[in-house]
Amino acid sequence: MKSYRKELWFEVPSRRAFINITPQVLECLRESGIMEGLILVNAMHITASVFINDDESGLHHDYEIWLEKLAPHEPVSGYRHNVGEDNADAHMKRQIMGREVVVAVTGGALDFGTWERIFYGEFDGRRRKRVLVKIIGE
Ligand code: ZN
Repeated sequence: MKSYRKELWFEVPSRRAFINITPQVLECLRESGIMEGLILVNAMHITASVFINDDESGLHHDYEIWLEKLAPHEPVSGYRHNVGEDNADAHMKRQIMGREVVVAVTGGALDFGTWERIFYGEFDGRRRKRVLVKIIGE
């Protein structure tokens, strides 16, 4: 069995963003040479997510509104976590949107359902953060 590991780095200039990282993940798969197996992609920070959904800007706008209703950034003082920091909402948004995805690798390709793409969800940006890509198989 082959094993491959790589860290992808992101520095989002805004507090929040959704980035389609499918091309980078596909590049990792090509580098790995693995044709059959599993690929794990996970955020290495507790204020960022990796998730799978549609690459559609209206949906991403809707996510932003929905997440702000569930865990509004303001008022910052409304969260007990925000003693010396202001990212309590980012921890909660990450919890909802998830830590990782696992995708089957079949015939050297990501074995996606219709319209599935992999996204990095940033909820407390403006600093360098990592995503882990781990691929196992043969
Ligand atoms: Zn925090």
